[in-house]
Amino acid sequence: MTLLIGLTGGIGSGKTSAANLFAELGAEIIDTDELAHRFTRPGGLGMAAIRQAFGPEFVTPDGALDRAKMRALVFSDPGAKGRLEAILHPLIREEVERRIAASRAPYALAVVPLLVETDAYRGRIDRLLVVDCAEETQITRTMSRSRLTRDEVRGIMGTQVPRSVRLAAADDVILNDGDLGDLQRQVQALHEKYLGLARRTSAAG
Ligand code: ATP
Repeated sequence: MTLLIGLTGGIGSGKTSAANLFAELGAEIIDTDELAHRFTRPGGLGMAAIRQAFGPEFVTPDGALDRAKMRALVFSDPGAKGRLEAILHPLIREEVERRIAASRAPYALAVVPLLVETDAYRGRIDRLLVVDCAEETQITRTMSRSRLTRDEVRGIMGTQVPRSVRLAAADDVILNDGDLGDLQRQVQALHEKYLGLARRTSAAG
């Protein structure tokens, strides 16, 4: 079985930056946010079920998920999020397995922003890697690359588990308060560790 690392972290912590560095070193990266997006594009695999569950008003004329409408619904009806996830999560999980099976990389790394919150990968991942940084760093980095205000970023952080909970669940942690060179060094060290674990996993059958 291919070693599977679950990579998570709060908004703006550096998940994508870390994942890109692992990819350069040869890991198979599976970005579950990207898959969710793909399944809700025009003609996406999730769209028939979404139309059936939520009605045609949540589908744009070209057949994609109407993201603005869905965001508004999720805001006013907390159950809607669970209904949407019940459609998308199984599709994403299946695609994750397909990608792992098709990959020749020594190990795979699934980027799952809400891994600790949703529990969806518990029992499946071999290790949980958390990218962590100070909340102030999360806020300034997110603000610098989006149009979100400080309060909006704080609001999103409020919907995610606190740092302490995420860190308590972690097997490995990347502390991403430094510069990109610092991030690169930590990724390199973990990559070597994962290569060693992957060798043992494949030797065990
Ligand atoms: P999101 O939760 O919004 O998807 P993320 O956790 O994937 O974010 P990134 O997109 O990797 O985080 O990083 C957020 C921003 O911070 C990006 O603009 C990225 O280039 C920058 N960044 C990440 N790590 C560092 C670092 N160590 N030094 C400087 N900038 C960084």
